[in-house]
Amino acid sequence: MKIIKNYIDGTVFSSSKKFLDIDDPSKGEKIGEVVLSSKEDFKKVLESSKKAFLNWSETTPLKRSRVLSKYKEILEKNIDNIAKIISEEHGKTLDDAKGSVIRGLEVVEFATGIPHLLKGEFSQNVGTGIDSWSIRQPLGITAGITPFNFPAMVPMWMYPISIACGNSFILKPSEKDPSCGIKLAELFSEAGLPDGVLNVINGDKEVVNMILEEKLISSVSFVGSTPVAKYIYEKSAQHGKRVQALGGAKNHLVVMPDANLNQAVDGIMGAAYGSAGERCMAVSVAVAVGDIGDKLVKQISDKAQTLKVSPWTDLSSDMGPVISSEHKAKILSYIDIGIKEGAKLVLDGRNFKIQGYENGYFVGPTLFDDVSKNMKIYKEEIFGPVLSVLRVDTYEEALKLVNDHAFGNGTSIYTSDGEISRHFTSNCQIGMVGVNVPIPVPMAFHSFGGWKNSLFGDHAMHGNEGVRFYTKLKTVTSRWPKSTKEGPEFTMPTN
Ligand code: NAD
Repeated sequence: MKIIKNYIDGTVFSSSKKFLDIDDPSKGEKIGEVVLSSKEDFKKVLESSKKAFLNWSETTPLKRSRVLSKYKEILEKNIDNIAKIISEEHGKTLDDAKGSVIRGLEVVEFATGIPHLLKGEFSQNVGTGIDSWSIRQPLGITAGITPFNFPAMVPMWMYPISIACGNSFILKPSEKDPSCGIKLAELFSEAGLPDGVLNVINGDKEVVNMILEEKLISSVSFVGSTPVAKYIYEKSAQHGKRVQALGGAKNHLVVMPDANLNQAVDGIMGAAYGSAGERCMAVSVAVAVGDIGDKLVKQISDKAQTLKVSPWTDLSSDMGPVISSEHKAKILSYIDIGIKEGAKLVLDGRNFKIQGYENGYFVGPTLFDDVSKNMKIYKEEIFGPVLSVLRVDTYEEALKLVNDHAFGNGTSIYTSDGEISRHFTSNCQIGMVGVNVPIPVPMAFHSFGGWKNSLFGDHAMHGNEGVRFYTKLKTVTSRWPKSTKEGPEFTMPTN
């Protein structure tokens, strides 16, 4: 049975005797243990990160970029390995896991452009004989705390850019699927990253609190559920850190009466049920506008019944299990609540069983129709394969639903009307928006982040936002020629 420890200064290490179980969600069986790191482990991580920062921040951006290029090459050769590690502990299909590694790899690719990205601004003659320029400098030791649903991609939204900017980085992966974090760090060492620039510390909220309270750590990047995101944001700010904390979601997909229905339904299938709905950009609400509701619900229901729900080892699987028995119980309780609230259960995934995997944490595709905005199943994030359909008469009502919701991560509209689409993209209060695209996840060279209760902090992740987050701005004003004036000046300079 595997024991997952920490990756500190290029070595796998832990002094702690406390462990948590790691499960195979397909079988519902324990397959390993992860360490709950001690204060001593944390101290070692900190010393290593502090030392590594001194040299790494002095390494030229071009040399840093070359290490990232090598890392990209090594990652490309290891996509299948990493995907297998993810699927074993997370349960998602192998193709989905591979896709997520590639999305992370694209951030490494973006970060190889760091010499260009760090170029500052220069103004000649801001005053007579005076030049001024701005530079961006690294923060120091940075940290990232990540969720279970993307054990490679989400950490890779963070550390490649932080490290490219000259920082050292401490990763605290989810305790539910921790093996991937260690593998990613080992491969970075293989690419030539000096020891200690990327350390990985495992554990749960105790380690998180050590990170948040540590004054040597300059910034915290977090992705996870909204209550924890809010806690991380407030506590990091109390301890004087820069913070970006991405939270949960309830993403709406609006289907207009003039939409291409087949395309909308295909989009909804992958977006609602792919990865068993455990994506922060999953579509969990479909809003049917006008008279399209009956046709939409029938087509979703017909298609969802053909989805193959099976373990990741079955390469034709469309979706796997959810992450844990507790999470499965929570999803099932939401389905019970939806029925009690009066929503119409069109497809019921509660009693889903697969022969040979009876103890696996599987939930079948579930569909509710006639959901209304006051229901708990609409207001809260379920994070499972449960889709709610709401019916409204007009586009304005659909937009109001999107905007009144507490979450603001992603949304999408299916329509063939350019004017409606333009109005929607301009007026929805949401961070990431799709037009005839079901999951509008921005590419690495744009930035990822929601609004409202889906993001606490000032910066989204990766892209230029990432570079800004992981650097401090400095502006220099410089005069070399001898001044024509002698003596002190007491007025604000005007030329
Ligand atoms: P989670 O909030 O339970 O855990 C995330 C991280 O926080 C883990 O590393 C965990 O160890 C730590 N943590 C958990 N409870 C804590 C506590 N009380 N104090 C301090 N640290 C704590 O989230 P999860 O279940 O791993 O992931 C699913 C959630 O993440 C969903 O809500 C999903 O929407 C969200 N998510 C959001 C995005 C986004 O970009 N907005 C992306 C992926 C996932």
